[in-house]
Amino acid sequence: MKILIVEDETKIGDYLKQGLSEAGFVTDLARNGLDGHHFAMTEPYDLIILDVMLPDVDGWRILQSLREAGRTVPVLFLTARDSVEDRVKGLELGADDYLVKPFAFAELLARVRTLLRRGATIATETTLKVADLELDLMRRRVIRNGQRITLTAKEFALLELLMRRQGEVLPRSLIASQVWDMNFDSDTNVIDVAIRRVRAKIDDDFDTRLIHTVRGMGYMLDVSDEN
Ligand code: CA
Repeated sequence: MKILIVEDETKIGDYLKQGLSEAGFVTDLARNGLDGHHFAMTEPYDLIILDVMLPDVDGWRILQSLREAGRTVPVLFLTARDSVEDRVKGLELGADDYLVKPFAFAELLARVRTLLRRGATIATETTLKVADLELDLMRRRVIRNGQRITLTAKEFALLELLMRRQGEVLPRSLIASQVWDMNFDSDTNVIDVAIRRVRAKIDDDFDTRLIHTVRGMGYMLDVSDEN
């Protein structure tokens, strides 16, 4: 599940990104309205958390553009002003829910999960499937050949990324930024270790290996003939 956060207040943005990634979500953080608008209109997200008060392009404009373009992605807006007009305006523009700042992270997480569940009943893709490996995004379950496999939140996010981009070689730097929110120069050993752990869980006991190391380039998940 991929979530876009549009929030210009550094502390809140970082807090949301960290909390959501610890909860196992892949997140993008836009720190201004212009970037937020661009990401929202060009990248596919399962949910957008949108701050209303942004210095350049405000949250209302972003929401309006999304809905005018026919994009149905659930939007949770954050407002500092606890005014009825604001809430009404947001909901009229097509937001799905709102939270008034300051809010407890647990409450945000509960709202996020509800919106994702609601969105998933409309969207088709709640399960990713490659060969006999299934990832149930809503129930956060992994099943291979009928066997239930337990993954940590990070391992789940890593496997989700690999499965969403089946057949693509993913460089360590991309995996680092998408799953760990680390930059290019960070210690990529973390990724190798995590890949090894995921492999041990989803590949080792099965005939067909799905996660492949592409020397000098990165990792790829696919059903390949060499097995
Ligand atoms: Ca703001």
